Amino acid sequence: MERNRVTIIGAGLAGLSAASYLNRNGFSVTICDAGSQIGGVVATDHVDGFFLDRGFQLVLDSYPEFRHLLDPSRLALKRFNRVLDFVDAEMNHKGFFDPREHFQPRETLKMMRQFRPRDWVSLARIATRISTADPKVLFESPTETSYAYLRRLGFSHVAIEGFWRPFFRGIFLEKNLETSARMLNFVTQNFLRGHPCVPETGIAEIPAQLADALPQDSFRLDTQVTAFSDSAVETADGTVIDHDYLVVATKADELCALSGDASKDFGYRYVSNHYYATEVDFAASATVMIPSFPDTDILTVAVMDAVSPSYAPRRTHLISVSTLEVDVDATAHSGTVASMLGISATDLSPVRTYRIPRALPMVFGSGHHGEPYFMALSSRVFVAGDFMENPSIDGAIASGRKAAEAIMFAASRFGA
Ligand SMILES: Cc1cc2nc3c(=O)[nH]c(=O)nc-3n(C[C@H](O)[C@H](O)[C@H](O)COP(=O)(O)OP(=O)(O)OC[C@H]3O[C@@H](n4cnc5c(N)ncnc54)[C@H](O)[C@@H]3O)c2cc1C
Repeated sequence: MERNRVTIIGAGLAGLSAASYLNRNGFSVTICDAGSQIGGVVATDHVDGFFLDRGFQLVLDSYPEFRHLLDPSRLALKRFNRVLDFVDAEMNHKGFFDPREHFQPRETLKMMRQFRPRDWVSLARIATRISTADPKVLFESPTETSYAYLRRLGFSHVAIEGFWRPFFRGIFLEKNLETSARMLNFVTQNFLRGHPCVPETGIAEIPAQLADALPQDSFRLDTQVTAFSDSAVETADGTVIDHDYLVVATKADELCALSGDASKDFGYRYVSNHYYATEVDFAASATVMIPSFPDTDILTVAVMDAVSPSYAPRRTHLISVSTLEVDVDATAHSGTVASMLGISATDLSPVRTYRIPRALPMVFGSGHHGEPYFMALSSRVFVAGDFMENPSIDGAIASGRKAAEAIMFAASRFGA
């Protein structure tokens, strides 16, 4: 019997997820990507013995869609400690951890004293409510900004400024906590349930695992799609590829450009990622360091080889620094980063900087309703992408699964 042919535009996680589910269910898939690599924004460069992820990206090993689609055991996931290391303007380090996991009476008391008793009550309330909740339910909660939600729950100014804002600045890539509280709950749930991890040799191992399970002739890289219809796509070199169904798994603005609708304006969060190397021996730990002083653009600092030694050549540390600005070079931050690590700025050599202007879609920003929704452009054309669900690895995978399920349903009703 002839198999249904599906073209997928975009080999990011959304497109690869759709392709994986369709391939497993007997569909023939062709995946076109304008770039020369699979993975979209989930990419790693191997440079001079370093594995450089394009942006500081973590996968939480509890992410439900990730666990459903991938085999985490084959990714050799390396875990960060579940201790967040907040660093204040005087370079004092204050650990924030789950006392059930690391119970040290003195450290726990020190941590407890940072916030007011009512903050701990509010935190316990959130943790109890969301740790066992169905993720779907989290995305059905009332729409409000994370800031409004935290205030409504009674968190003090000290807790918001000393913990929530600096922590989520590095996840939401914005300083105002204006991203939906749904996303805050989803991320918090996964931090409570799982561990932040990176694959042993870089975040790109995630899309690579999906691609490896697909027939290798499925991919058409360096292939920009310029137009699509229910029955075919056309590429920049004039090639026409026929199909029975299509998944458009690009970013939202790319989808609009392809559909000939340039009227919509999509917002994105941007981020820069500076990498430094040092051969100085210091007590590096597998924690994410978070500056808690308000006037910094530094979001996170992490010693990548402390998490996975493969990230750097022997006897060299690789430091990943993500920042909320686009035009500042790495040397502007080396003094602060070195102080956070307890070494001298002259010991840090810049390795590479990535500037990522369209890092996360602002679908969950204030003013958006934030409903995860499903979009069929016609009975043959379906849309996937993180902007359809939530801006995360898990959201992108979920959107691909839903597009694949819609095609399976359509094919069972209408065939090719
Ligand atoms: C710096 C950074 C840090 C992040 N940190 C985390 C994190 O810690 N944890 C987490 O869970 N998530 C994180 N994310 C989010 C997560 O990585 C993304 O939400 C997800 O990978 C997006 O996948 P996607 O498939 O929707 O989009 P993309 O990866 O953007 O893929 C879209 C693909 O479509 C292709 N394309 C576009 N137009 C065309 C065309 N006309 N023809 C052919 N191909 C086309 C593009 O080349 C691209 O490959 C981060 C993202 C970034 C950028």
